[in-house]
Amino acid sequence: MIAASHIAVGAAIGAKTNSFFWGGLLSLISHFILDRFPHFDIGFSIKRNKFKLKPIHMIVGLFDFFTSFFVIFILFGKFSNFHFIFFGAAMAILPDIIDVTRYFFKLPFLYWYFNLHNRIQGSEDKISGTIFQILIIVLSLFITFY
Ligand SMILES: [Zn+2]
Repeated sequence: MIAASHIAVGAAIGAKTNSFFWGGLLSLISHFILDRFPHFDIGFSIKRNKFKLKPIHMIVGLFDFFTSFFVIFILFGKFSNFHFIFFGAAMAILPDIIDVTRYFFKLPFLYWYFNLHNRIQGSEDKISGTIFQILIIVLSLFITFY
């Protein structure tokens, strides 16, 4: 899943639970459930490159990440429960952030976690993956709003 999908779902969970505990926990779990669905993301592209990280991967990844948080901030920044929305979004993308840290810290735990996260991934599918992610993002933003 691209970061935008995880962040949108986490924002919706944060908005509806209005709780740091439940919002954080459910958002974290939502990450692994969403990853099970057919999708596409940079992870698949990195895999095809035999796990070589290219500058384009970093550019797309950072753009995806920061644009998503920017949109969340623009849309919901004035909401009274924005702290829950933001926390849910952050917890939903945390599993991918932990994944990236293995490029900076060569800790055995991070490789173990990376393999686990990798095995959880559903299949790569550009068409159904794109449609599914667009629906998830639109629905999540709608739920967060109302
Ligand atoms: Zn993931």
